[in-house]
Amino acid sequence: MDSHNISPISVKLKGQGHRLTKARKAIISIFEKNHEPLSADQINMLLVTENIKINKSTLYREIDFLILHNILKSIQFKEKTKRYELIHRDHHHHLICQICYKIEDFKLDYCLDTSVNQVSKTHNFKVEDHVLDLYGKCANCQNLKLIK
Ligand SMILES: [Zn+2]
Ligand SMILES: [Zn+2]
Repeated sequence: MDSHNISPISVKLKGQGHRLTKARKAIISIFEKNHEPLSADQINMLLVTENIKINKSTLYREIDFLILHNILKSIQFKEKTKRYELIHRDHHHHLICQICYKIEDFKLDYCLDTSVNQVSKTHNFKVEDHVLDLYGKCANCQNLKLIK
């Protein structure tokens, strides 16, 4: 990594006294470059394209470490495998293609907050977070159907 391009996450971990192993730095940089939720297999594939080899147990150990230190969170979509994304990102939602499992982020304006606030009042429930995932077919997969 270029010295003028040090990742803020790495700086934070180093400041907390953690070692920045090659594997740890590489995994962090994958998440800084790719803004969609990634499975362990996808992380591995992205590492391989950068000529970095990390064995599976190290990869899972690093993922657990990053979750423990509030850098990653795991997300369970309607698929078998878990995905991971950075915790400290702007609030966003996901579009999930049920054919190819491509996942895209999207943002909503205030309209959802208004509804959530209303529900919160009616049910006297203190809302702390919400998740909105939309499932369907991505543009690519819609086109595939048309060709058939
Ligand atoms: Zn939202
Ligand atoms: Zn698709």
